[in-house]
Amino acid sequence: MDVTILNDLSLKTYNSFKLESKASLMAFPHNNNGLAKLIQTYEGKKKIILIGKGSNVIFSKKDYSDEYLFVSLKLMDNIELIDEKTISVQGGAKMSDLVWFAIENNIKGLEFLEDIPGTVGGGIIMNAGTYRNTIGKFIKSITYYDLTKNEIISREVEEENFGKRKSYWSENPSIVLSAVLQSEQGDYVESLRITMQEKEKRYMKQPRNYPSAGSVFVRPEKDLKEHVVWELLDKVGLRGYAINGCCFSEKHPGFIVNIGGAEYEDIIELVRIAKERVLEKFDVELNMEWKII
Ligand SMILES: Cc1cc2nc3c(=O)[nH]c(=O)nc-3n(C[C@H](O)[C@H](O)[C@H](O)COP(=O)(O)OP(=O)(O)OC[C@H]3O[C@@H](n4cnc5c(N)ncnc54)[C@H](O)[C@@H]3O)c2cc1C
Repeated sequence: MDVTILNDLSLKTYNSFKLESKASLMAFPHNNNGLAKLIQTYEGKKKIILIGKGSNVIFSKKDYSDEYLFVSLKLMDNIELIDEKTISVQGGAKMSDLVWFAIENNIKGLEFLEDIPGTVGGGIIMNAGTYRNTIGKFIKSITYYDLTKNEIISREVEEENFGKRKSYWSENPSIVLSAVLQSEQGDYVESLRITMQEKEKRYMKQPRNYPSAGSVFVRPEKDLKEHVVWELLDKVGLRGYAINGCCFSEKHPGFIVNIGGAEYEDIIELVRIAKERVLEKFDVELNMEWKII
C-alpha cells in the first residue's frame, strides 16, 4: 500500500487563511511510485489539486465534491545530506524543516526561507523568497511528475526556470516530488543569528496575529521602477478597509487577514476594489500572487 486515501476531510487545516471548506477525497502518496499510480488511476476522471501547506491558496468552494481529488505530499517529507553543501529534500517537507536541517549541518544561505510558511513543493511552484533571495537560486535538480507526458522526470534546472513568484513547474502541469539544493558551508551560530533576526523583522512587519495567505499581489514593475504594493494600497485608502470578516491589514496593507468568519466572496471583492483603485490612481495593474482553488 503506497497511498493513503481519506474521505470527507475539513480543509480548514489545509489553508493558512482558515477558510471553512470540505474535500470529499484526499490522497497521501507515500513515495514516487504511489504518486504515479494514483495519478494514472485518476487522470481524466477527477480534477487533481495539489496542496502543500495551503499558505498561498484561497478556496473558492465550501465543498469540493468527489469530482475533485486533493493530493498532499505530507508523507513525503524526507531530508537527506548528500555532501557538506548539498541536500536532497522531498516535496512534502516543510521549508522551515529544510532550513533547520541546513543550519544543523553548517550549511548557510537558506536562512531567509525559515519563516516562509509552506512546503518545498509549494515553494518551488511559487519560487518562494524575499526581495533579494528565492529558493530557485539554490536548486540544482528537480524530480517531478509531468502531467502532460505522464511520467516522472529528473533533470538539472536552469536559472530561467524560475521567475517572480513562478517557475517552470507552475507554468507546465507538474507535481514537484523532490529537489537537490546546493549552498555553501557556513557556521551554525551565525546562521542561527541570521534566522532569528529575519524572523523578528518579519514578525514586526507582518500581521501574524490573524490568519492570512501572505501577500495578496505580486510586486508590479512599471517603467522599470518597482512599486511596493502595500504603499500603493495605503495611498488608495485600503489600510484597515474591511468587508465582513476580512480586511486589508492595519499593520501591513499588502496582506488581507481573516478577522473572523471571512468568506471567499468578501475576499475577492476586496481584491477587485484594490485592483480597480490602484489602476485608476497609479495606472498600475496588480496581479494576484495567491492561487484560487
Ligand atoms: C504569513 C505568511 C507569510 C508569507 N511570506 C512569504 C514570503 O515572504 N515570500 C513568499 O514567497 N511567500 C510568502 N508567503 C506565501 C507562501 O508561504 C509561499 O507561496 C509558499 O511557497 C507556499 O507553499 P505551500 O506549500 O503552502 O503551497 P500551497 O499554498 O499549498 O500551494 C501553492 C500552489 O502550489 C501548488 N503546489 C503545492 N505543492 C505542490 C507540489 N508538490 N507540486 C505541484 N504543485 C504544488 C498548489 O496547487 C498551489 O497552486 C507567505 C504566506 C503567509 C501565510
